[in-house]
Amino acid sequence: MLADRTLRVQPSGIRKIFELVASLEDPVDFSIGQADFDVPEPVKEAAIRAIREGFNRYSVTQGDAELNERIRQRVKLSYGFDPGASLVTAGVSGGLLLAYLVLLNPEDEILIPDPHFVMYRVLADIIGARAVTYDMYPDFKIRREALERAVTKKTRALLLNSPSNPTGRVCSPEELQLVAEFAREHDLIVISDEIYDAFVYDEPFRSISEWYERTVLLSGFSKTYGMPGWRIGYAVGPEEILDAMKTFQQFTFVCANTVAQQAALYALAHDCTEQVQGYRKKRDRVVERLSGSYELVPPQGSFYAFPRLPAGLSGVDFVQQALAEKVLVVPGTAFSARDTHFRLSFAASDEHLERGLDVLERVAARASQKQAGAST
Ligand code: PMP
Repeated sequence: MLADRTLRVQPSGIRKIFELVASLEDPVDFSIGQADFDVPEPVKEAAIRAIREGFNRYSVTQGDAELNERIRQRVKLSYGFDPGASLVTAGVSGGLLLAYLVLLNPEDEILIPDPHFVMYRVLADIIGARAVTYDMYPDFKIRREALERAVTKKTRALLLNSPSNPTGRVCSPEELQLVAEFAREHDLIVISDEIYDAFVYDEPFRSISEWYERTVLLSGFSKTYGMPGWRIGYAVGPEEILDAMKTFQQFTFVCANTVAQQAALYALAHDCTEQVQGYRKKRDRVVERLSGSYELVPPQGSFYAFPRLPAGLSGVDFVQQALAEKVLVVPGTAFSARDTHFRLSFAASDEHLERGLDVLERVAARASQKQAGAST
């Protein structure tokens, strides 16, 4: 009854654990992939005004002209990247689907990081292409050898995600140059998912588009302005690719949410330094408190940390132990074939953050006592 592609895509195995959370009273939810702050008031007002002013119809496929113009200006100013074209999309997810659709034939390969945001693999499965991982363990840096090992004659594109979900790593300029060089040599399009570009804590954010013009840069508003439910993002890049994406948007999403498009104009002008400072402090607390008991590559961006599991515990054991104390984290197997790490999102209130970190410290202490007991 169902099409073959449904066999290639299974619901996430960790869903059952998440469903459990609904039955918990006041859990600490470290599993969440969204900011804990709400949409800034002036941006909310802009959305309400847009509804009243009648922005309730379809927009043109590519989205509001002024919004497109500001997006192109933004990437030009920030990265010196002069994209041939832009498109307002239904979130970065919408941009990802369109990019995969127009760039990959069935059987073509796309290089994706390991570990990676789950959608990168599933979208390839949906369209019958193949996602091949490049290894970023153990320090989550990009290495030429890892790229060389993954590339084949069928590779068409490389997916880059900096700042990263799930690791929080931000690529250095050297890594980005390396990717640019590699992509040029192998004639690859780079799809750069920069949705966490505002959440960078140590160095200014650098985009691969500064070094590589055949980049489809995807970013958006979900994380930066606390509006993931508004479904709005954007894509910029070479005209030929963006034109094809626009055609595919016409026959799928039609256009991005028109109310959100008007609000996004205000969002782009909004200064979110304060929120980012707040998240830097949360990042500092996570590193301070977990570094003693976990092997942790300090996150430099996004709002995730990806510590190593305590010795002797599988991801599922670990998640269950944390859950027994009302803390929800995601096993690394949601992002990788390796069962060695777990992801925590520190997009939580300070009170929840401290409470959750207490629990994670206890789980690690218990595991290390057990290990010590087992080895004596
Ligand atoms: N890319 C990454 C790396 C993400 O973490 C997410 C959200 N979890 C998305 C894309 C999707 O974002 P959007 O809401 O803009 O579709």
